[in-house]
Amino acid sequence: MKAAVVRDSLDGYVDIKDVQLRDIKANEALVDVEYCGLCHTDLHVAQGDFGNTAGRIIGHEGVGRVKEIGADVTNLKVGDRVSIAWFFAGCGHCEYCLTGRETLCRNVENAGFNVDGAMAEQVIVKANYAVKVPDDLDPVEASSITCAGVTTYKALKTANLHPGEWVTIYGCGGLGNLAVQWAKNVFKAHVIAIDINDDKLETAKKLGADLTFNSKTADSGAWVQEQIGGAHASVVTAVSQIAFDQAIDSVRAGARVVAVGLPKGAMEVSIVKVVLDGIQIAGSLVGTRQDLAEAFQLTAEGDVKPIVATRKLEDLNDIIDEMKAGKIEGRMVVDFTK
Ligand code: NAD
Ligand code: ZN
Ligand code: ZN
Repeated sequence: MKAAVVRDSLDGYVDIKDVQLRDIKANEALVDVEYCGLCHTDLHVAQGDFGNTAGRIIGHEGVGRVKEIGADVTNLKVGDRVSIAWFFAGCGHCEYCLTGRETLCRNVENAGFNVDGAMAEQVIVKANYAVKVPDDLDPVEASSITCAGVTTYKALKTANLHPGEWVTIYGCGGLGNLAVQWAKNVFKAHVIAIDINDDKLETAKKLGADLTFNSKTADSGAWVQEQIGGAHASVVTAVSQIAFDQAIDSVRAGARVVAVGLPKGAMEVSIVKVVLDGIQIAGSLVGTRQDLAEAFQLTAEGDVKPIVATRKLEDLNDIIDEMKAGKIEGRMVVDFTK
């Protein structure tokens, strides 16, 4: 089968190779991938930002149909549509797995990082961890919810927003456009969308952002303070260290800043501000299986509408370049059905 494999040089691109899958074991299922979106995390993986991943099949916004089930599988049957997410499997018995924080499991398996992912014609999944896609949800749109959607849904839960409060969303790309939609339509917040590309801000405005700001050359933190006296929360999906600094400047006392984007580097945080203003800074990592099931259901009900376009597997390195250049609106999704 064809698969997108991280190069030995870790130059940020992938090779499309023929790969032989092993036979499935008990508790596993073989999935024929239909669609897989390219997430910016795949770019981090392909350029070795999280370690040496040479030879790994990328992809964690996968959706496909179960082709075969192994012994002892009871939750899936052949033909079911399932997702292949970054949270691929946990150990199932540690303090994190047992307390609703399974994405933090210290022995976690992540698709497209430490186990092979879904940017391939087929993938082997652990049946208990494959979240079903509702029948009434478009599978291309479902691929975007599998990472971008669930991650921003969970980040907004973590932001602890109340209806009518203000949230700044930094980065309005694949994740951020969905963050704007969750914030408006599900969490009933007022939204300030911030990006360095005007076309991303145009999209955010169309999706309901109350205010937008281009922070390419101006300080968004000071601007937000002027406009509304500081946001009640901030969700940072931007792949930029400066955005994190500005996010902290954009909030009011008692706010929570939720870090989601993964640029290299450190956050510049004033200890005095954190203490005197009671600022909480929280990391948020994808979502649990339950978060994903909720995000799928809400999307099927129309609360968010992923912006997706399908492409061929052979286009993947072009898509990587387009993502680096900030040229993609929403998500590009590789179509394996043709
Ligand atoms: P993307 O490339 O689609 O979007 C990034 C957006 O950030 C772009 O619109 C870009 O213009 C904008 N941006 C860049 N610099 C900025 C700045 N200084 N201020 C404001 N906006 C700026 O990427 P994506 O797929 O949305 O992923 C975003 C980040 O989130 C990546 O680092 C990815 O690895 C990470 N991520 C984290 C999780 C998690 O669980 N925490 C999950 C998925 C992705
Ligand atoms: Zn992702
Ligand atoms: Zn665990």
